[in-house]
Amino acid sequence: MSQHPNLEQALKYYFGYDNFRLGQRQIIEQALENRDLLIVMPTGGGKSLCFQLPALLKKGVTIVVSPLIALMQDQVESLRDNGIAATFLNSSLNGHQTRSREEAIVNGKVKLLYVAPERLLSDRFLPFLDLVHHQVGISAFAIDEAHCVSEWGHDFRPEYRQLKSLRKRYPDIPTLALTATATDRVRGDIIQQLGLKQPSIHTASFNRQNLYYEVRQKTKNAYAELLEIIRENEGSGIIYCLTRKKVDELTFKLEHDKISALSYHAGLTDEERAKNQTRFIRDDVRIMVATIAFGMGINKPDVRFVVHFDISRNLESYYQESGRAGRDGEPSKCILFFGYGDIKTIEFLINQKPDPQEQLIAKQQLRQMIDYADGTDCRRTIQLGYFGERYAGNCGNCDNCRSPKPVQDWTLEAMKFLSCVARTKERFGMLYIIDVLRGAKNQKINQNEHNKLSTYGIGKDRSVEEWRILGRSLLHQGLLEQTNDGYSVLKLNALSWEVMRKQRTVSLAIPIAPKITVEHESEKAAEVEILMQRLRSLRKQLADEQSVPPYVIFQDSTLKLMAQVQPQTKAEFNKLSGVGSHKLAQYGEKFLAEIRAYRTEQGLTTKEDNSKPAVNLPSETELYTYQLYQQGLNVTQIAQKRNIRPSTIIRHLCDLIDKNQQIDINQLVPLERQQKILQVLEVLGDIALTPIKDYLGESYSFDEIRLVREKWRRENRK
Ligand code: ADP
Ligand code: ZN
Repeated sequence: MSQHPNLEQALKYYFGYDNFRLGQRQIIEQALENRDLLIVMPTGGGKSLCFQLPALLKKGVTIVVSPLIALMQDQVESLRDNGIAATFLNSSLNGHQTRSREEAIVNGKVKLLYVAPERLLSDRFLPFLDLVHHQVGISAFAIDEAHCVSEWGHDFRPEYRQLKSLRKRYPDIPTLALTATATDRVRGDIIQQLGLKQPSIHTASFNRQNLYYEVRQKTKNAYAELLEIIRENEGSGIIYCLTRKKVDELTFKLEHDKISALSYHAGLTDEERAKNQTRFIRDDVRIMVATIAFGMGINKPDVRFVVHFDISRNLESYYQESGRAGRDGEPSKCILFFGYGDIKTIEFLINQKPDPQEQLIAKQQLRQMIDYADGTDCRRTIQLGYFGERYAGNCGNCDNCRSPKPVQDWTLEAMKFLSCVARTKERFGMLYIIDVLRGAKNQKINQNEHNKLSTYGIGKDRSVEEWRILGRSLLHQGLLEQTNDGYSVLKLNALSWEVMRKQRTVSLAIPIAPKITVEHESEKAAEVEILMQRLRSLRKQLADEQSVPPYVIFQDSTLKLMAQVQPQTKAEFNKLSGVGSHKLAQYGEKFLAEIRAYRTEQGLTTKEDNSKPAVNLPSETELYTYQLYQQGLNVTQIAQKRNIRPSTIIRHLCDLIDKNQQIDINQLVPLERQQKILQVLEVLGDIALTPIKDYLGESYSFDEIRLVREKWRRENRK
């Protein structure tokens, strides 16, 4: 028996999911035991849940440190849409908003508070934090994007360095550090910089199973191929280019070809960038053409493809950039266009670097990127190998696995190659080894007297290119190592010796045939597809009403399930993964109505659910109430006249407001009380009546709150 048998229930109730992902449960259990944690998971791995669920189950408030305002807002919106009391404090708020949020926090009304590090550690904020600690308790600090503390990482932020002082101030409050960084060095740095105490370290595999990887040669037809990719794949896409100029040109061309696209690069103003990003996240525009400036701030989960129209500078960047596809776990594509011209551009950029050591490392990293693009092995194997993770290959979800090149036995050649590395004392790079193998006559070889080795000239029968393919493949398959100091010196490992002792065979895929384009995944039944479109537009409409991104309402996977399962009752609807208690109440009827309408049109059977239809017309009984209201009767009078309870009349009035009828609530709730209620709504968001009432106290009635909330909702829809 596990210690927390009801964690699954809590997961379903708050987030609508039935099962934990690999690792999440254990992490959450340890978080509940107040341990320090380092959580390393790839993008889309489900890190947020690891601190969000414990925050809800523990007493007090969890402080979440997040580097970007956009990231905070996204997370808070998603949490609120699950009915969770989360809020953020940052520079986008005015003094009044800040004060009312702070008030809610010290009154224990907030479970998750998002803050930027510079605010958290300011002289004004620390006393407030002490107060919170004293009044309601701080259950944990969650440091998101924790690699920002490390200079070795790609997003170093000096303000993150100060976070260590939190540890000194609150030594007993557990800290969770979260990151998607793949390198060991950065992980070590995080532990040290944040002062984590005997942290439990959780490292998930960096394999992103749902991503399909493909590399195409960049020919004259590249643009036409790009258009085809955009037209044949549904949903949002990101296209990366190396320079601003290329971004702008490409956006221009796409628009000319009637593709809705926007640009994103460092040459735009902050406002333009923020605006374009919002339009992309809300599905107002399908394609974002961007330089790598478009990065960490984007956590749109339903990006369906990432195309690198130009190659990345290194494999880690490529992994992170392409990894912005499919965070929600749905199948998504990562396609790289590989052209030799782009390599020249990057080499030029590298040569501008003042530090020769930096240049050397950058060149080696570029080399590894080219090896990936040129590679004939499983793309996953190459990527994961780069991060030190062994993967058996044959993923079935990359171009090399789906249309493999013919495989040949190259064991003998591999033995020659590896023993040449051994004979030259593991002190040289690949090109030198190949020269020795092919018996090249050059000065360096003569000086080193390597022309006297038994391996000198034993590889004349193969071309330089063939030896290179072999060498790279040995590296990718982990049968050979390479130093990371910029010199790429080849080193042997235990597996190399197995090959040399003939205990292991080596096969090699030699690229000959032109790449076959991958055929489409079998088309989903047209029926599901049509319904999916309808649900999508309903989702977009609801999202626009609340001005939130569509994925906040329901994720693609939930929408797809809806279209497949076609639930017809609330109970069936509640079973869908992604439907928690709050979303069921908020959106259940509207989606059920859409599904029913669709089934009726298709001549399929429909079950009656005893819920009211979601059509936006007042019902008869509501209209009767409305008539009496228009005649000037107050709530009590209407209730008496109709012989029903006053609270039912209030409900009618609320529904009438929802259905855009003119109801002046100033006659029903005094202005000053309205204002109080509105303040609370601004802080807590659109949540259930009870917590709002808890907050306001006994003197406020559910009826009043309900009316004001309805009016607030309607105003927020615009
Ligand atoms: P990360 O921060 O690691 O990139 P997120 O926390 O944003 O990832 O989670 C990625 C996606 O996976 C989100 O859409 C989230 O709702 C979803 N998710 C997380 N945990 C689960 C789970 N147990 N079951 C289903 N979906 C989940
Ligand atoms: Zn593969």
